[in-house]
Amino acid sequence: RPRIIFITVLFVIGIVSMVAIGVVQNKPLHQKYKYGIVLDAGSSHTSVYIYQWPAEKENNTGMVQQMDACNVPGVGISGYSTEPNRAGDSLKSCMDKARSIIPNHRHPETPVYLGATAGMRLLEMKNAAASEKVLESVERVLQTYPFSYQGARIISGQEEGAFGWITVNYLNESLRQASGTLGALDLGGASTQITFVSGQKQESPDNSIDFRLYGHDYHVYTHSFLCYGKDQVLKLSLANEIRPVHTKTETIVVEDPCFHPGYRMNKNFQSVFNSPCVTGLSYPEKNFVHMGSGNGTKCHAAVRKVFNDSGCSYSICSFNGIFQPRVEGQFGAFSAFFFVMDFLNLTTLSLDEAKEELGKYCATPWEIIKQNHPNVKEKYLAEYCFSGTYILTLLEDGYNFTSHNWQDIKFIKKIGNSDAGWTLGYMLNLTNMIPAESPDTPPLPYG
Ligand code: AMP
Repeated sequence: RPRIIFITVLFVIGIVSMVAIGVVQNKPLHQKYKYGIVLDAGSSHTSVYIYQWPAEKENNTGMVQQMDACNVPGVGISGYSTEPNRAGDSLKSCMDKARSIIPNHRHPETPVYLGATAGMRLLEMKNAAASEKVLESVERVLQTYPFSYQGARIISGQEEGAFGWITVNYLNESLRQASGTLGALDLGGASTQITFVSGQKQESPDNSIDFRLYGHDYHVYTHSFLCYGKDQVLKLSLANEIRPVHTKTETIVVEDPCFHPGYRMNKNFQSVFNSPCVTGLSYPEKNFVHMGSGNGTKCHAAVRKVFNDSGCSYSICSFNGIFQPRVEGQFGAFSAFFFVMDFLNLTTLSLDEAKEELGKYCATPWEIIKQNHPNVKEKYLAEYCFSGTYILTLLEDGYNFTSHNWQDIKFIKKIGNSDAGWTLGYMLNLTNMIPAESPDTPPLPYG
């Protein structure tokens, strides 16, 4: 009996140690991961993205993943035009976090990029010296970290569209297969981008990009509409509503069908007319009462006015005389497209159902909306009727989606663990992580 117990104990110890050795052997002491950091300096806020990938597999699709995303507290960097030093300071909490979660021995080789989008494009138009100072301030702070600082710049709308498209197709692993790609629809506060592979004739060189990725050629259509982000369009449509009622009288009441009945807020002219996107009246000292009337049909008509449909010098246009071929294939719609449609529970409805639901939502009194959503920031909450209406109008009347291809639009926040947006594509491109030729393709024979 004791002999059997002894042998059994030896056997168990053997199994346990074999498993332990196996676990230790399969787990390298140093995880061989590399890291990269991209700061998305948007018009309303900045996000810091940390990416990681296995060191020996950089050229495989889908290998780079988001490890962490940090929202910088406060406003976007363009909001610090009058006190530029605070722009750099605002980044510190998220950059400290990046320093603590990336292993120390990888810090010196970890690239850091900052890309600023339409908020800074607008500030540069309005006040180039201020935008320069803001960029210097963020650069100064980023250089104090132990990473490999690679620059802070304003990226073009075309880059923003193209890198958003690369991100979603990289994450979707559609780049290596001959199957279709995903178009990319991105909505920010100050601009919006549409990017997709089109088999139709590209009539405008500014809107056309050719990529060769993993051995495949892609002819991509892209356009970025500056001033057509949702915050700027809200200013534009409010300005349209203010102009006709503007008189010499002291109290100007602007009735707005895109805000809920019972909504009443004192606002300053300055908050509407302070943007290069909005021209016209400038009485900075004047106030108006912004009053909601909650009417979906009238809101659609008001939003429709920000699109100019005349004057297309190509065979086909989206709006404002911009060439756009017919939309083709599946689309991923992200950033504010997702935030708004998700909040309104419209992501899985047909176009007609979405319009109907939105109409009911817009007509709901402001008091009830606030009661139903006590934890949502009031500024966002007040604007969802407007934002939802703008999104449906942009997609249907602007980009010419119809009820037939509406289901081709998927409203997405993430693919896997990674957020959809331009930052990942930007880093993949700048670190040469997407080869033109497929790594699996054997080299061509001589001769
Ligand atoms: P940007 O800062 O340019 O990237 O723009 C982001 C846009 O999304 C801005 O209009 C923000 O107000 C908006 N946004 C961000 N988070 C939310 C949210 N949870 N609900 C609604 N809008 C949002």
